Amino acid sequence: MFDPSELSKDPGRMHQSITITPISASPDETHCLIQIMDSSASIKREKMLRSHSEILKKEATTDSLTGIYNRRFFDEHFKMAMGHSKRQKLPLSVFMVDIDFFKEYNDYYGHVAGDKALIIVAKTLKTQLVRANDIVARYGGEEFILMLPNMPEDLAMQFAEKIRAAVWDAAIPHLKSRISEQISISIGVSTYQQSEDVSIQHLLEAADTALYKAKQNGRNSCCYINARSIAELAETEKKV
Ligand code: GH3
Ligand code: MG
Ligand code: MG
Repeated sequence: MFDPSELSKDPGRMHQSITITPISASPDETHCLIQIMDSSASIKREKMLRSHSEILKKEATTDSLTGIYNRRFFDEHFKMAMGHSKRQKLPLSVFMVDIDFFKEYNDYYGHVAGDKALIIVAKTLKTQLVRANDIVARYGGEEFILMLPNMPEDLAMQFAEKIRAAVWDAAIPHLKSRISEQISISIGVSTYQQSEDVSIQHLLEAADTALYKAKQNGRNSCCYINARSIAELAETEKKV
């Protein structure tokens, strides 16, 4: 029997595809064939594929432990950012961060605790970023890398000090650190200066050398190295 209350129920939406085909039966009469088909299944399949591909894309660029970007994403993005800085004649600063005495941390507290500490450090670094194009990524085991476009050398050193202090202030106990009783980081900094003839490799090498110096200087510290000096050194070595 007909139930009028059924009419007020929301029947939901049905995705349809409509095809109109003109049919000419004779010169005086024109008809058309209208086909309406239910395309819900194909729309649903398309949505599912799109969401799967978005998940895959996110997984490919994210570090599974910390949830921040991975090295692969950083490398690609850094290349683009460097090209942009060169074209726009803007500076670009890069920061290599390494946790001090992390092997001792793992040996003493265990790998699970080590993983938790990595998550806290990653989160702490991420909260220091304010601009949309600033990026932090996990570069390797207990190493992180940050890239801040349009940040000149003097501000870069201030920023490095800010992130060093932020990780220190997180006060993660590390009784086996040889310099303190909590987790600390060392940071190597370098800046691409406007119009400078410096490659991505030289900039990264400068930051890496600066990190090595920060470790030598006693750790829990920041060090800056000019990328141009690294580039010049490479040119001299090529000539010899
Ligand atoms: P330094 O101050 O010179 O940097 O010393 P370090 O002990 O931090 O450096 P080293 O390279 O000797 O050791 C890094 C350690 O980081 C080794 C490993 O136990 C730990 N590590 C690397 N990746 C992971 C990870 O994904 N999870 C955990 N829990 N530990 C990791
Ligand atoms: Mg390391
Ligand atoms: Mg380390």
